[in-house]
Amino acid sequence: MNARPDPGLFFDPSKCFIGGLWVAPLGGDYLPIENPSDGTQIGLIPRGSKGDIDAAVTAARAALTGVWGKTPAAERGRILARIGQKVLERADDLARIEAMDVGKPLKQAKADALALARYMEFYGGACDKIMGETIPYLDGYTVYTLREPHGVTGHIIPWNYPMQVIGRSVGGALAMGNAVVLKPAEEACLTAIAFAQIAKEVGLPDGVLNVVPGLGEEAGAALTTHPGVNHISFTGSVPVGQIIQRAAAENVVPVTLELGGKSPQLVFADADLDRALPFLVNAGIQNAGQTCSASSRILVERKIHDELLARMAERYRALRVGPAVADLDLGPMVSKRQKEIVGSFLGDLGGAEIAARGTVEANAPNGGHYLAPTLISGVAPNNRLAQDEIFGPVQVMIPFDSEEEAVAIANGTDFGLVAGIWTADGGRQMRLAKAIRSGQVFINNYGAGGGVELPFGGTGKSGYGREKGMEALYGFSVLKTVAAWHG
Ligand code: ADP
Repeated sequence: MNARPDPGLFFDPSKCFIGGLWVAPLGGDYLPIENPSDGTQIGLIPRGSKGDIDAAVTAARAALTGVWGKTPAAERGRILARIGQKVLERADDLARIEAMDVGKPLKQAKADALALARYMEFYGGACDKIMGETIPYLDGYTVYTLREPHGVTGHIIPWNYPMQVIGRSVGGALAMGNAVVLKPAEEACLTAIAFAQIAKEVGLPDGVLNVVPGLGEEAGAALTTHPGVNHISFTGSVPVGQIIQRAAAENVVPVTLELGGKSPQLVFADADLDRALPFLVNAGIQNAGQTCSASSRILVERKIHDELLARMAERYRALRVGPAVADLDLGPMVSKRQKEIVGSFLGDLGGAEIAARGTVEANAPNGGHYLAPTLISGVAPNNRLAQDEIFGPVQVMIPFDSEEEAVAIANGTDFGLVAGIWTADGGRQMRLAKAIRSGQVFINNYGAGGGVELPFGGTGKSGYGREKGMEALYGFSVLKTVAAWHG
């Protein structure tokens, strides 16, 4: 095996983490790690197989029947808090590793590391605050409910925000006392492996967290079809979400699916454009648009369409793209494949026009997957640019004439993840917050800085189930009703 791990790594990326041990993949196969900023290979990760997943599920089951199953909630909380503390201490290292692995600018990578720490703090504090109820019932009975872990939870996560998704899904699952098997995306395994190393260092009992890198159709499929898995949390694309839902049906296992979106921001003529502008643009280009909750549609009241278009175009022309370590507005796309997918959208504008583009730095390495952010105007609501998730730094502007039309366009896709409303009219804020079909609605802001505390998830093809906030803990647990007759 010719792994050449970056000397700055504080873990060996070529190992799976199973039962508290670092182990080579059973099949002896590996996958290359690419640095998308220059296309170089920077090491190897395991190509985990069915056998590795089986070993991980077995280790997780053993943890449940062993020490983890008997660990009091407050002690679970302390362990999660210690993980959070260590993540904070290593935030710069984690940011550098993530930037190298997925190409995100350092400041975004650092924000992700801080969010991971926040999730651990939040869920650490929540462990002993999830309570059951007593239920008034017939004479002679006492009835109460218990919130219990599912057992083994399987987590299949994407490459775009590995640390944040680990925080919200693994954090919530551990808080409720589940034992976890995590299959990170093949493009982005390093911070998942780093997370396991940190968890081991702070004393998370063996087998409670297991990490098996590998391909989706191999390790991922083995995890979602494994009869020893009791719950599956998936964040990724719609087609893979559908495969996972079908796989889960076989074992009748609950799933949480977060499948992306086509999230709109609605800008009315009375909006405070000075405040709105940075949110409008950033929500489209952050992480090079590779964000489930990216706002890829800007719906604008026709009266101010030309003004807003001109102001957004000015901002787009100032955006700079370059290597992750240069820490500019955008880094590269995660892979050549992702760049080609976005390029295919831009190759067919369906009558729309490119209003403005950012600039790829002249000295950006040739092997990197760079793409200039692109603002598109004159887009009909039924254009595929306005219907399909592009997952790249592309925003479309769509004019509307009335509140009713704005709502119809906002709701006129298969998705419903996040929406933003920009207006000074309080009544309209409340009406639209109800009328828009979406898991989250933001009024005169967008994204609320990530919001560890805010329940997050979709409607329609954006998926179902909620992660983040206290709400996630209900999803990561099962309710048991106890009815005692005592006469
Ligand atoms: P993207 O297309 O953006 O890479 P995917 O939905 O393909 O997103 O990937 C998200 C996660 O799902 C990754 O961890 C990937 O390995 C995993 N995955 C892909 N295919 C499958 C599958 N058939 N079964 C289980 N997991 C899968």
